Amino acid sequence: MSVFEPNDRFARKSAALGRAYEISNKDKEDKLAEAGKAKSKTGPCETCKKEAELHRFRVSTTDRSEGSASFHIDMKWLCVECEPKPKKHKGEEKTQAQLKSILKTARRAMR
Ligand SMILES: [Zn+2]
Repeated sequence: MSVFEPNDRFARKSAALGRAYEISNKDKEDKLAEAGKAKSKTGPCETCKKEAELHRFRVSTTDRSEGSASFHIDMKWLCVECEPKPKKHKGEEKTQAQLKSILKTARRAMR
């Protein structure tokens, strides 16, 4: 019997490892979902209320009241039309207009 004992122990250990692996895998899935990279669902979009295929997105919002700004991140289910566009691309498009408005503001301030 003593010959089988180590095998039995090994079997139990590998079963435990298997369970641990499953759990950590599930953890990873949750984290991916949080990052908006995994899971999608069909339902009403949280922005336009349209029924569509939705993805989870992290939406950052800034509130300003009485001189203090608060920043928080919400998780939202958004459709393709409402999903946040990559910041880099948006920034490049806006640079010219933003520069003009900054110049305008600066000129106004100099008067
Ligand atoms: Zn939408």
